Amino acid sequence: MPANKKALALASLLMTRGGYSFERSIPKGQMVGLKILRELKVIVPGPMDVRYASCSFCGLYRGPVFRLDGEMHVQCPDCGPYKIDLSEQRNWTLDIEWMIRKLRAALNISAHIAVQKLYEGVWQIGVHKKRVVILAERIELVVANALNLFHGKTPRPDSWVITPRPLGRTFSDPLSGTATWWHLEDRFAIHGNGLRFVGEDGDVIEAVVEPRSAAVHGPFSETFEWVHMPDWSKDPIRLSAAQAAVFGVLWRYRGQPQSAETIMSKANLSSDKLIDVFKLKSANKGDLLYEGPMYAYKTLVVRRRRLGLYSLVLNNLEFDLGNLPKEKHEIFRCI
Ligand SMILES: [Zn+2]
Repeated sequence: MPANKKALALASLLMTRGGYSFERSIPKGQMVGLKILRELKVIVPGPMDVRYASCSFCGLYRGPVFRLDGEMHVQCPDCGPYKIDLSEQRNWTLDIEWMIRKLRAALNISAHIAVQKLYEGVWQIGVHKKRVVILAERIELVVANALNLFHGKTPRPDSWVITPRPLGRTFSDPLSGTATWWHLEDRFAIHGNGLRFVGEDGDVIEAVVEPRSAAVHGPFSETFEWVHMPDWSKDPIRLSAAQAAVFGVLWRYRGQPQSAETIMSKANLSSDKLIDVFKLKSANKGDLLYEGPMYAYKTLVVRRRRLGLYSLVLNNLEFDLGNLPKEKHEIFRCI
């Protein structure tokens, strides 16, 4: 691997780890990368306490440093005293401002577009080809906040999401087609004293394909995690896993009324009532993200109150409701 590529791979590793990394925790084969990162000031040294050192043997304890016969030693409470190489105590962290500045330059993002910190470890660094560019330390931070990031009060449709390549296994498309995911070390290269954009084409999976939200079962997506309610919004409504499970079960019964008990057990949910998984916390009242699923529930689910039976009601083209005249259905209103 060329030295510059090793350097960017190491920068990505430090970014994923966050905080400070001891120099000795950096794989030996990556020391050449460390040298480049130091020279370019992509990384900055962390504070060093010369009175205490962390033990290189157990990695668990810190002990006092003392001089003996002109050499430095550390007294680990568990491993005992030993001669210490103080360079091992050096630690480094990625200068995220460097990374943001150079990524912006590589993507020709104009200086008047501000950088916005969205969450801890997640930044909006600008706009590329009219689509928002998001940088995150780890893809998990994006996934965890995806609803708000992409469909929140400031929707960011088809964003570019840049993160280091994940350390562990992950889904090939954790963003479900809502954004294009770029691995930092694949899409960019160290060039001169900055970064160069390698390009949009490459060996990386293009996440923007047929959106996962496309309506497949009536108004529902393939996995029932999205429902299209044009009266509510142009964009499909995102459902939680529990909400999707409820709709999935109702869909399979094709309009045939079922008891709450049957539906909830088929959906592998422990609540007694369907409404439990749609109920809004008072803090989320008025937030369209949370109100959306409730709207879908109220519109699509009917409850025959006396019998306590629930069914899905779609337009008659999709469902033959048989001998249940529509006026007998009472739209269940939530409390
Ligand atoms: Zn020790």
